[in-house]
Formats: sequence, C-alpha cells, structure tokens
Amino acid sequence: MTHINSAADIAASEAIRQIGVIGAGQMGTGITQVLAQAGFTVTVLDVSEERLAAAIANIGRGLDRLLAKAKITEGNKAEALARIRTAVDYAALAECDLVIEAASEDEAVKRAIFKQLLPVLKPSAIVASNTSSISITRLGSATDRPGKFMGMHFMNPVPVMALVELIRGIATDEQTYQLVHGVVRRLGKVPVMADDFPAFIVNRILLPMINEAVYTLYEGVGSVESIDAAMRLGANQPMGPLELADFIGLDTCLAIMQVLHDGLADTKYRPCPLLVKYVEAGWLGRKTGRGFYDYSGEKPVATR
Ligand code: NAD
Repeated sequence: MTHINSAADIAASEAIRQIGVIGAGQMGTGITQVLAQAGFTVTVLDVSEERLAAAIANIGRGLDRLLAKAKITEGNKAEALARIRTAVDYAALAECDLVIEAASEDEAVKRAIFKQLLPVLKPSAIVASNTSSISITRLGSATDRPGKFMGMHFMNPVPVMALVELIRGIATDEQTYQLVHGVVRRLGKVPVMADDFPAFIVNRILLPMINEAVYTLYEGVGSVESIDAAMRLGANQPMGPLELADFIGLDTCLAIMQVLHDGLADTKYRPCPLLVKYVEAGWLGRKTGRGFYDYSGEKPVATR
C-alpha cells in the first residue's frame, strides 16, 4: 500500500499538462470540467459530435452555477472554457501526457478505443480508465504500457464529489501512481487507493447495501418509504438506499452486483430477484421515469 502525504506527488505531476478524456458522457463531461478548472489543457474525444456539443453546453451550465454561487469569477469561467478542445479524431490526443478513458462501460468498446489511441500516443503518456467494474490488470494487459496504466475512478457528479479511487493493476508502476495521485490532488480532490478487485471500495460496500435494501422490500419487511426513511433517519444517510438506487440507475446497480457475484463467486452477492425484474421491465430509476419511485408527477411517489 502506498500512501503519499508529501508534496512530492504534486511536484512530479507538474510534468502533466495536456490531458485527453475519451467519452463525453455524464462522467467524461464532469472530468473535463474539473480538469479545465484546475488549469490543465483538455481535449475531449467522442464518436458523437452531438455528445461533444452537449458536453460543452453542460460544462458551460456547470460553470454558470458556480458563478451564481460566487465560487468562481467570469474570468475563471472563460479561462476554463478556453482550455477545452473537442475531437473525434485520435490524432488530436498525440501531445497528451495523460489520457483518461471514460467511454461506455463495455470491455469490447474500451479495448477498441485503446487500439486506436495507443499508436498516436507518446511512449511516456499515461493511460487511465474510469471504469467502475472492469479489471484494471486485464485492461492494462490489452495496452502496450501496462506499467503506465491504472484506474482513476471518479464519482458522480464529478464536480461535486470529493473522492477519486485510484486503482493499481498488478503491473502499474510507482511513478505512474504518484503522477496520477498528484493530478487528483491538484483537482482539489482526495485520492484513495484501492486494490484491483471487483468494484473496488465504494461500490463493493455500497451496492450490497442497496441490494439488501431491495431484498428487504422483496421480503415485505418494509415499504419503499419505510426502508428509505429508516436508513435516512436511523443511519444518517443523506438519501435512502432505494432512492439512491433510482439515482444510480437500476441497470447499473444490477451490473455491479453481477460483477461482484461473478468475480468473487460468493452467494452473498446474489442480485435480488426483484432488482432483476425491475430491470427486465425497463424500470431503471430516474432516467426512465420509474424505478422504486414514480417520477412522472411533481414529487416522486413510492411504487410499493
Ligand atoms: P455515458 O453513457 O453517459 O457516456 C459514455 C460516452 O462514451 C458517450 O458519450 C458515448 O458516445 C461515448 N463512447 C462510446 N463509445 C465510444 C468510442 N468508441 N469512442 C469514444 N467515445 C465513445 O456513460 P458514463 O456514465 O459517463 O460512464 C462512462 C464510464 O464511467 C464507464 O466506464 C462507467 O462505468 C464509469 N463510471 C460511471 C459512473 C456513473 O455514475 N455514471 C461513476 C463512475 C464511473
């Protein structure tokens, strides 16, 4: 285990100036914003021009919210936006010192991205993945630089959440870890090291708790509202577990439970059949308008 408390990581990370972000979805957009705010030059790449345009618009809105709260100035906003470039062609990433892959959670997609990315990169460039569940060691072995490959797992929404889990694959070298650690600290975020096991730390603990909340509902121990109220008021959680599941997306929750179940081969990670049924119904939470709550009205209404 490496804990870096000195300023050595920050000093080392001064070598990182240009950063590429692959994937302009929910996560890639937030990552691009916080990097640009911290002074890095960022090139965000996606297959979809529409996604890129939406990402820039979302970043503008995000910066406007900070401006309205007087957390940044007009000048800070303009400078941050001026540091961002968009691209659909990998050649635009040739000068990057670090590339953070934040494309869809599909191993085949990520491998195809690395195939296009690696030939244009400098040999010294570091590659990181924001994957929530895919083995960093396996992804790294699909690159020409497993020593310079690691996991950099941001939390959603990126501009708000302080934590970044840093995951070392078995081959990740110390210098790479130190540089990325320094970058995270320069974002004003807190890095926590996690070993490369399924779902790392946060999701390894959070998702079984959510799955247990679904079992508690499935077995009739409590209603949606009583389970959420119990955990909010009895365990001091800011959001009840079922509310949180709807926010994360029930398909994502199920996928992470499956990764834990398959990767650790322990029945304690068995996805609750009710969670499976909701996903089969297309009731995926907030994003589809219905999950454990119905979001079609003014206020969310519990469905059980
Ligand atoms: P998303 O669906 O919002 O965005 C994915 C983006 O990747 C899309 O814009 C898509 O056009 C792009 N993309 C797909 N194939 C591509 C390719 N070949 N080349 C370039 N771009 C491509 O997904 P997201 O929620 O932003 O998740 C992205 C990654 O972050 C995933 O690995 C996910 O596991 C991880 N993650 C997600 C969360 C979360 O809460 N959503 C939290 C932490 C980590």
